[in-house]
Amino acid sequence: MAFVDLNDSVIAQVRSAADIVDFVSQVTPLKLAGKSYKGLCPFHREKTPSFHVDRDKGLFYCFGCGTGGDVFKFLALTERFTFPEAVEHVASRVGIELPRRRKTTRESDKDDLLEVVDEASEAFHQALGFPDNPARKYLDDRKVGEDIIKKYGFGYAPDSWDYVLTRLARKHGEKTLELAGLVMPRKSGTGYYDRFRNRLMIPIHRETGALVGFGGRSLDGTDPKYLNSPESDLFNKSRLLYNLHRSKDAMRRIDRAILVEGYFDSIALDHAGVPGVVASMGTSLTSGQASLLRRYTTKVVIAYDGDDAGKSATLRAAPVLLAAGLTVSALDLQGEKDPDTLIQNQGVDRFLELLGNATDIFDFALKEWASNVKTLTGREKADRVEAFMPLLSAVVDPVVRNDAAQRIADGFHLEFETVWSKVRGKAAGPVERQVVRAVPSGEKFVLTALVQGRLGRDKVEGIKEGFFSDPACRTLFSITKSAISAGQPIDYSEIATHLKGEAELTLLSEVTLTEDLEDVALGRLDEVLIPMQKAYIERRKREIQQDIEEAVRNGDHSRERQLDTEKLELSRMLSTLK
Ligand SMILES: [Zn+2]
Repeated sequence: MAFVDLNDSVIAQVRSAADIVDFVSQVTPLKLAGKSYKGLCPFHREKTPSFHVDRDKGLFYCFGCGTGGDVFKFLALTERFTFPEAVEHVASRVGIELPRRRKTTRESDKDDLLEVVDEASEAFHQALGFPDNPARKYLDDRKVGEDIIKKYGFGYAPDSWDYVLTRLARKHGEKTLELAGLVMPRKSGTGYYDRFRNRLMIPIHRETGALVGFGGRSLDGTDPKYLNSPESDLFNKSRLLYNLHRSKDAMRRIDRAILVEGYFDSIALDHAGVPGVVASMGTSLTSGQASLLRRYTTKVVIAYDGDDAGKSATLRAAPVLLAAGLTVSALDLQGEKDPDTLIQNQGVDRFLELLGNATDIFDFALKEWASNVKTLTGREKADRVEAFMPLLSAVVDPVVRNDAAQRIADGFHLEFETVWSKVRGKAAGPVERQVVRAVPSGEKFVLTALVQGRLGRDKVEGIKEGFFSDPACRTLFSITKSAISAGQPIDYSEIATHLKGEAELTLLSEVTLTEDLEDVALGRLDEVLIPMQKAYIERRKREIQQDIEEAVRNGDHSRERQLDTEKLELSRMLSTLK
């Protein structure tokens, strides 16, 4: 990412140049319905579309889950861009050149780290050309060809304490190398030494494609078998999935991810042309990794190792994926060790065949835990059913959960109620449910009428900002009102630029995408407006009363008289409203 100077006018310019329909369509298909576009919401699971996009106003809103905003917000949610990144991304897509700015220290520090990791990767790759090195031998033994080595950027960390250190420390400084996870301080006093020694190096990228760290496979039996870059600002393993930057587009297109354990499983499948493959880099999948996947797909097939350890890892990963709202199935490798071996022994077509036969995770679990149900004692049965609870409780959709409980009951020859009584009370809600703020519906209605241009100028003048108790309503009202008072058309891109808060942008999307209000409803506007006005007057009177008490305490009689008059005036106004 380049570094640019984002001011309000540039942001508004980029926003209005962008076609939001274009950006959203890449994530969820849209159809024109009336004045706006409609589609299935990418942020919650639904069967009938409640996700609306308004091309002219540049806004989206989901009436199902309450997520809304502009094109930048959309990209922040789907691509995990920061706001400046989103602006920059859109600008480059619409061909607007952004003014440059100086980087902050933090940004340039992070840039330095990325550069160091890149250069280290280059150095490791060079070392792979050294004569008689064990990394090359390891790759040869695994029949990993030159094309794969190039494509996936393999390298070799030589059996040396200072291979990286001598190459990069002079240019970047030892401290930077340490922050990049490449060297460690010596335990005895001063100096540093290489973290990765005698290991096959596998570069790990963020989903954006930035190289952030390495997985290093031991070549001499030293533990651990795989040593990863340490946790840092740059490398956060719980939010990384190996190969996601290569597979995310296909994953989104076909709406399916294949989750494997190891780097080589992922590489074998990816290289054979199987789309949407990622590796969890170890068997303990985190909820961060699961929600990362959920940004690109709704379905995951787990293809962990075929042994018992792999099967139990599958059943541990499944609840994490289910809780993120993903549909989960699992693949039976039919006796092969792992996907890599399967492809080597039987070819990719065999893998695709097994993929086609992947079973729903509950059927997979039933096969594991209930295949010998007739021979189980009551106690054993109880334990097995208990083992299902993390899976069942993680299912977000109540219908799916109910159905799974039924299948488990059938599998163990139990009454449905017996299983269901265990799961009830444990059921988790959606992990990332949107908190829909309770904006008073009357205030929303008035604001909608205003934004839709359905209120006459006189009516608008009679409405005060203070009528609104909700802060977001108040901000939106005053911005819109001043545009109307000045006789200007409402410029949504301009308005969105002035909104600093998330809540305000969401509310703007909601009211602008609400269907045109019916005349009948508008005819009853006063039924909403008058109570708002009354509430406003009551609030003002209470405030004035407090001011009066303060004036009395201070002996400020003229202020007291002035406030009394004001209070009287408010009471008079209130009586005309009754
Ligand atoms: Zn939604």
